[in-house]
Amino acid sequence: MSRAEQLKENYEQVLEELKEACVQARRNPEEVKLVAVSKKHSSKDIEFLAQLGQKDFGENYVQEVLAKQEELKNLSLNWHFIGALQTNKAKYVAGKFSLIHSVDRVKLARELDKQAKKKGVIQEILIQVNLGKEEQKAGVEEEGLFSLVEEVLKLKQLKLKGLMTLPPCWYGEKVRPLFARLRELKEAIEKRFALSLPHLSMGMTQDFKEAISEGATLVRIGTRIFGPRI
Ligand SMILES: *Cc1c(COP(=O)(O)O)cnc(C)c1O
Repeated sequence: MSRAEQLKENYEQVLEELKEACVQARRNPEEVKLVAVSKKHSSKDIEFLAQLGQKDFGENYVQEVLAKQEELKNLSLNWHFIGALQTNKAKYVAGKFSLIHSVDRVKLARELDKQAKKKGVIQEILIQVNLGKEEQKAGVEEEGLFSLVEEVLKLKQLKLKGLMTLPPCWYGEKVRPLFARLRELKEAIEKRFALSLPHLSMGMTQDFKEAISEGATLVRIGTRIFGPRI
């Protein structure tokens, strides 16, 4: 099977499974958007998926994604930044992504705001929450979430659209309560700050079904579409 045929088969299967997961969760499939995570895969792969109708792509590494954006600038794609972001890289990222999923500290939010202002754009963001504490560093911990939201809401060039989480991989079956928790936190923020947050970015290759049943609106799937990353 050629690479193109393999990608098409994987992609169509994923779309089918997403739809099925929505049906099982009694949700409208239109509420759940697939972000194809293309990190470590080629621009050619992205171009091929784009031809099949995929618009949203997620990437983790600043240099890699800027190169791909340049190569693919003729396609109108929605780029999502989903990786850990160093504050000094904010200038490369602000204004170049439809959505930045990984804002997890005030310093980074302020720098993104400043850079977005320079470029005269409003940057949409998600706050990444660290719910699986023990093993990972990225994401604000629950205790600090409300104060981070409060600071982000003061920044005029940023628009908060929701929350994101990346559970530690060893969670396996136990991941579902974490997704439920992210939804509860989103609802708590909506209530406390009297606003509406449209997005919950959660669920990847291993756990997108659980995420959909807990309310995910953006699922970030890489391996299941593109195969293993080398
Ligand atoms: C790599 C990555 C994904 C995709 O993971 P797969 O297991 O390959 O589907 C999703 N979200 C984030 C934040 C990632 O870094």
